[in-house]
Amino acid sequence: MTSPPGKPDTPVVEFTAVSKTYPGRVSAVSGVDLAIPYGELACVVGPSGSGKSTMLHLMGTLDRPSSGRIAIDGHEIAELSDREVSALRAQRIGFVFQQFHLAMGVPVLDTVADGLLYAGVPLRERRRRAARALTRVGLDHRLDHLPHQLSGGERQRAAVARAVIGEPALLLADEPTGNLDSASGAAVLELLRELHAAGTTVVVITHDREMAEAFDRKVEMRDGRIVADSGHPPVVGTGVLT
Ligand code: ADP
Repeated sequence: MTSPPGKPDTPVVEFTAVSKTYPGRVSAVSGVDLAIPYGELACVVGPSGSGKSTMLHLMGTLDRPSSGRIAIDGHEIAELSDREVSALRAQRIGFVFQQFHLAMGVPVLDTVADGLLYAGVPLRERRRRAARALTRVGLDHRLDHLPHQLSGGERQRAAVARAVIGEPALLLADEPTGNLDSASGAAVLELLRELHAAGTTVVVITHDREMAEAFDRKVEMRDGRIVADSGHPPVVGTGVLT
């Protein structure tokens, strides 16, 4: 996935002094600067309560910051209406959550095809692309299966297929292996790596430090702040990361 036309150096995610404070004055994210270029395979890692989910919500435009600037795929979020933000999210961002909720009784092909509902694509084309996305994640033999006929790992691969069917600029995954046994988890991670190799920018949120080691770029959070970032090693002596 490349930068938007005419903006060759624009990152897909750009946070400038971003803070998010919840009611009760809980400062979930404080003064975060972060740039994730197109084509990166990154993870945000930290213990429970460090602000990872809040970061995912902000990157995914599901929430707006209390202060600071966020640009996603070259769009300044503050300049967009809620409707425009929803359109940006639907067209440019894919989500994979820890728990994939599949509609009961709906075949996997249609569940994945529904990922294109808001893109205005006709049903036949949605199904064609869903079959292609499911083939991409190795589920071409499961198109007509119902949710209860899939294993946990297969369900999560279907979730990934649904997330990438619209060819998003950014794929956000929240603890995507959290509910899986280690073999299925490894397969889902491998799938994310393949998507990254094919050009998708992938950002994974995890508390699992061991899993974090598998990523090219590791952004570590504590208490709402970035305390280490392998993409931007700390400059000794600035005091920035003390
Ligand atoms: P993580 O994903 O790393 O566990 P979160 O981003 O969920 O961290 O939470 C960061 C902090 O913000 C925590 O102290 C949490 O209790 C608080 N928090 C998260 N969401 C809300 C909310 N909707 N309202 C109030 N506080 C919240």
